[in-house]
Amino acid sequence: MEMKKVYMDYSATTYTKPEVLEEMIPYFTEKFANPSSKFYSISQEPIAAINNARERVAKAINASSDEIFFTAGGSEADNWAIKGVAFANRKKGNHIITTNIEHHAVLYVCQYLEKQGFEVTYLPVDEQGLIKIEDFKNAIKDTTILTTIMFANNEVAAIQPIKEIGKICKERGVIFHTDAVQAIGHIEVDVKEMNIDLLSIAAHKFYGPKGIGALYIRKGIKLDNLIHGGGQEKGRRASTENVPGIIGMGKAIELAVSHLHEEKERLTNLREKLIKGVMERIPYTKLNGPTGENRLPGSANFSFIGLEGEALLLSLDFEGIYASTGSACASGSLDPSHVLLALGLPHELAHGSLRLSMGSGSTEEEVDYVLEVLPKIVERLRNMSPLWEDFVKKGEK
Ligand SMILES: *Cc1c(COP(=O)(O)O)cnc(C)c1O
Repeated sequence: MEMKKVYMDYSATTYTKPEVLEEMIPYFTEKFANPSSKFYSISQEPIAAINNARERVAKAINASSDEIFFTAGGSEADNWAIKGVAFANRKKGNHIITTNIEHHAVLYVCQYLEKQGFEVTYLPVDEQGLIKIEDFKNAIKDTTILTTIMFANNEVAAIQPIKEIGKICKERGVIFHTDAVQAIGHIEVDVKEMNIDLLSIAAHKFYGPKGIGALYIRKGIKLDNLIHGGGQEKGRRASTENVPGIIGMGKAIELAVSHLHEEKERLTNLREKLIKGVMERIPYTKLNGPTGENRLPGSANFSFIGLEGEALLLSLDFEGIYASTGSACASGSLDPSHVLLALGLPHELAHGSLRLSMGSGSTEEEVDYVLEVLPKIVERLRNMSPLWEDFVKKGEK
């Protein structure tokens, strides 16, 4: 039988869609001119294409194009938003509110700012990975200058009550940033309706190229620059524009948003089939993260009692299934995921986790294949695992 290749790690990154790549290619070759060299005619085409991409990104989140600033990815957008607001507002106050399940591009920035004299409140989450609005309200003080809470979590797929958070921030005069890297192109995002002041985007999570992202900055929000140098991006973010990347992100976001509703429904159905199948076929399994509405469409996360996530990944790879234990950035370290620990999982369960995230290329056939292969692997690994042996013995007492 031909070996199947089943990619189930769309939350780590996606492929670039061919129609996206096609729009990018001319800007590597014949349309290579530097958009900052405004005095010759050949830069006019790249300038126009960037303007068009900026419009497309703005439209996708209901912003205006002069509120979109291109960056080199999601991490840079997060760094810029948080450090930029903190340093620009330190005379007003030094308090920042976030959660303890943020991506490291937010979490480590907050830890860095604590060393610089800022005070950070890390809101806890419940067992589904959701913050409590009451906790958030109670955390706001006179010195609070910024709230940074992710739109949707990359490991357990929990979607936070962003609209409610935005409303409270507006009422209390606190700037609101959200890392929307996992949300954009997958679920509805509207910066006006949700009162979002700053929002981070990365193209490679919605079928655009890697190394390009954007920060939405609501008009009137003051923040310091992160990258100093030339006058690009209205003097707010130096460096020669990544023209092909920008064009690719514009095309990718337009495509993603135009298919959003059908794709959301299709992936939700696949996810439910996958979750139901795994829970039915594999005993002593825990689904991590929320069920139903508050979960990203294509993403599931399980913990299997009595085994190590890393061993599971290797066995799955051998069967042509490419998955993750959580976030790609943290994999490689053997520390259990800070997100799963924040959900209250004991270390053993946090170690035995598997994230299966689906996207554009995922099919029912692929889900069937995973449901056929995964239970056998879990059983085999459990039979070799001292952790499982301990668990079974305890059960017999
Ligand atoms: C992928 C991801 C990032 C980082 O984006 P890069 O473009 O890789 O820098 C930040 N936040 C979340 C939630 C992510 O999923």
